Amino acid sequence: MKYQGKRVLVTGGSRGIGFEICKIFLEQGADVLAVSRNSCNLTTARDLLPGLTIFTCDVSLSEDIDRLVGFIDRSWNSVDILVNNAGIQLPTGPVLLQQDDAVFHEIMNVNVTGPYLITKRLLPYILNGNEARVINIGSSMGLINSGLRGAYGVSKAALHALTLAMAKELMPQVAVNAICPGWVRTDMAPDGPGDPRTSAEHVLWLANKPLDFTGHVIRGRRSVL
Ligand code: NAP
Repeated sequence: MKYQGKRVLVTGGSRGIGFEICKIFLEQGADVLAVSRNSCNLTTARDLLPGLTIFTCDVSLSEDIDRLVGFIDRSWNSVDILVNNAGIQLPTGPVLLQQDDAVFHEIMNVNVTGPYLITKRLLPYILNGNEARVINIGSSMGLINSGLRGAYGVSKAALHALTLAMAKELMPQVAVNAICPGWVRTDMAPDGPGDPRTSAEHVLWLANKPLDFTGHVIRGRRSVL
């Protein structure tokens, strides 16, 4: 029960990898707030995880993030662990330059601008936290190598860059790292061989690293950036 009294906010906590992250921190005794767009999905998650707190918020909408900040201000007033997990991969294929502008904007808004705005606006509450951590859920598809392609890959590369830049600004008070879960079986990747529980175990492992372990992008428990 190392996390008793700790406050953990998980975006995209209603299903998939985020749901398992909520579950593992509840098992550790933490107070956990799951955030997502869809209130029905959130209610289902709370039915499955008694003790889970839920809040409806689209991370791509500035006004929704303001409501979330208001909720944190009135309730917890601090955040010990922020997991920026909410993400989308739209079925547009890998062709970057032949897709609608709207598709590119939507992917960037959810996968990059959302984590940026949430972290920035929650920062006073994160700094109120105890040895706080920000954990961003990146992707191997966003590692800058010959495999990088499509708007999704570009968005995750930007999220990795955001992780490194935020880590520099927030050390030594807050550790900021990203994790690449691999190919995991969820609604986003129904054929994925990986178990989302394993991704949640990786996030818990990362949360347990010392506070000066910051500015890393992790894949398979090894730093790749
Ligand atoms: P998923 O099953 O599709 O779940 C996505 C979660 O994000 C849901 O809880 C969804 O909530 C939430 N979400 C999506 N857009 C949102 C928005 N605008 N505002 C708030 N919440 C939003 O996906 P997943 O596989 O668990 O993916 C989780 C993270 O891991 C993502 O960042 C993804 O890019 C990353 N990842 C996944 C894989 C994989 O193989 N699965 C691999 C590498 C990285 P609602 O629909 O309930 O609103």
